[in-house]
Amino acid sequence: MRVETILNKCQKFKSFIYKSVKWGLHDDKPCLEAVIIPRLNSKAICACCHKPASLYDKLTIRRFEFVPLWGYRIFFLYRMRRVDCKQCGVTVEEVPWTTGKHTLTKAYMKFLSDWAKKISWLEAARSFKTSWRKVFTSVKYVVEYGLKYRDFSNVESIGVDEIAIQKGHKYLTVVYQIDKYCLPI
Ligand SMILES: [Zn+2]
Repeated sequence: MRVETILNKCQKFKSFIYKSVKWGLHDDKPCLEAVIIPRLNSKAICACCHKPASLYDKLTIRRFEFVPLWGYRIFFLYRMRRVDCKQCGVTVEEVPWTTGKHTLTKAYMKFLSDWAKKISWLEAARSFKTSWRKVFTSVKYVVEYGLKYRDFSNVESIGVDEIAIQKGHKYLTVVYQIDKYCLPI
């Protein structure tokens, strides 16, 4: 099976395709490099207003780190396009695998932040041969995303407790939802 097939199975994009996957080097260690190109006839999307816009030019190739495979780091290589948006002017396009100036893909940030819930951030960084800073960036991204899209519409009852976390007077306020359907059966 080709690596492109595996990538298409776990991270398929509507308007982009994996052109090729080759061995590369990152920090003098072998890694996998997946070259991504826009799908034929797909229009670039303006990152500001999220609408299709006409092509302005292409920038240099950027690398975006994806979830490692068999212990090898994977990088998406893509030449970002700039668009000339009628509404926003010249802006960089929006791509589905990352956001803003991140060098990590959304999938990898989610992956690292999931591990950061189970083990220490330093252990997570060491386990996946990355840096503490990248784990921190991932947690920050996921928390900001969660805060942006949080939905309290189904919360009717909450409970509030204060628990002591260390000797002395250090307390933590715990807020939890106690609606009937949240209770264990
Ligand atoms: Zn726009």
